[in-house]
Amino acid sequence: MTTADIIARNQAHEVQVYARNPVAFVRGAGAELWDADGRRYLDFFAGLAVNNLGHCHPAVVDAIRTQAGALLHVSNLYHSAPLGEVAELLCRHSFAERVFLCNSGAEANEAAMKLARRWGHLAGDGRFEILTTQNAFHGRTFGTLTATGQEKYQAGFLPLLPGVRLVPYDDADAMEAAVRPETVAIMVEPIQGEGGVVVPRPDYLRRLRALCDHHRLLLLFDEIQTGLGRTGRLFAYEHAGVVPDVMTLAKALGGGVPIGAMCTTDALARVFTPGAHGSTFGGNPLACAAAAAALRVLADPATLTHAAAMGAHFLGHLERLAARHRRIVGVRGVGLMLGAVLDGPGNDVVARCLARGLLINCTAERVLRFLPPLVISAAQIDEGMAVLDEALAA
Ligand code: PLP
Repeated sequence: MTTADIIARNQAHEVQVYARNPVAFVRGAGAELWDADGRRYLDFFAGLAVNNLGHCHPAVVDAIRTQAGALLHVSNLYHSAPLGEVAELLCRHSFAERVFLCNSGAEANEAAMKLARRWGHLAGDGRFEILTTQNAFHGRTFGTLTATGQEKYQAGFLPLLPGVRLVPYDDADAMEAAVRPETVAIMVEPIQGEGGVVVPRPDYLRRLRALCDHHRLLLLFDEIQTGLGRTGRLFAYEHAGVVPDVMTLAKALGGGVPIGAMCTTDALARVFTPGAHGSTFGGNPLACAAAAAALRVLADPATLTHAAAMGAHFLGHLERLAARHRRIVGVRGVGLMLGAVLDGPGNDVVARCLARGLLINCTAERVLRFLPPLVISAAQIDEGMAVLDEALAA
């Protein structure tokens, strides 16, 4: 099928919730993709922070092939080995002692929010309210949409979930002032992704931790975009030296296969007793085999060192571009989660890059967002930056 055939059929039959670019991909390897007409693209977006290991990483592909020939699915009324492998790896490499597996980021956050509610309920002191931040993105289910402090996503879906309140991001004083007797938890992204690659002040997360400790609140970190090597460390909380009570993951966890996880401590995990929560596909053997293979590579110090080095290389390029192009008014980010803030809307730059074979993204209207695969090479970054330079000049 040609690109035109693929697009025509999709547009005829799919519910049109995505503003898709007119490109249809058929193959990927590392930081490169090919469309249905045989054209090559360089990927600075990694499937929105999913393809951290690049496209079709051989370890992930092999694990999927092997697992697909053995067992695709069993219900959660039974055990299977890949689930424990993923949970064990997550516990080994993070603060977590227990993991709930699900299928997406929204579901992982939904589990975290339900855990906080139930923890408050079991404490018997009437606390249920979850504080989240303006401009956040936590997902599209009713619970996580409520936690997502952006009207554009909430329009037309009111009323939302009661007991969730929004507070300005990167403002620990505002968070402190917002805590009420019914507050049970604070949920934040360590760096806001969709909100525009917003890196908070260095002491923000530490102050939230202190606030939670003081008021006996749970601290929930949504690491769905920041986690799994994206910032040059396996988890973004490591940069802040702050340990949350709950961390949610998805996106890169499955190496390209849908899976989500809610990671927590042994004590908090006891809040969820058998029957309290669940998901048909949660812990699915195929997804877990992929995730276990992906996690082994993502947690390898060599992967993280490379990601940090490529992040510095990428940032250096962006800073040089900022000095040359007046449209760029700021550059920010950590590791390979980077943004260039423009003086106006950036969709024209995204379109010009795409026309030249480079995938980038624009979020929060005027922030060019770069989330390349962690395995990208310096030469590939240099190649993409030459394209971006041209696109900004055009
Ligand atoms: N949380 C964050 C920080 C995200 O960036 C996203 C997706 O972009 C989500 C949650 C929702 O994840 P999903 O689309 O897998 O439900």
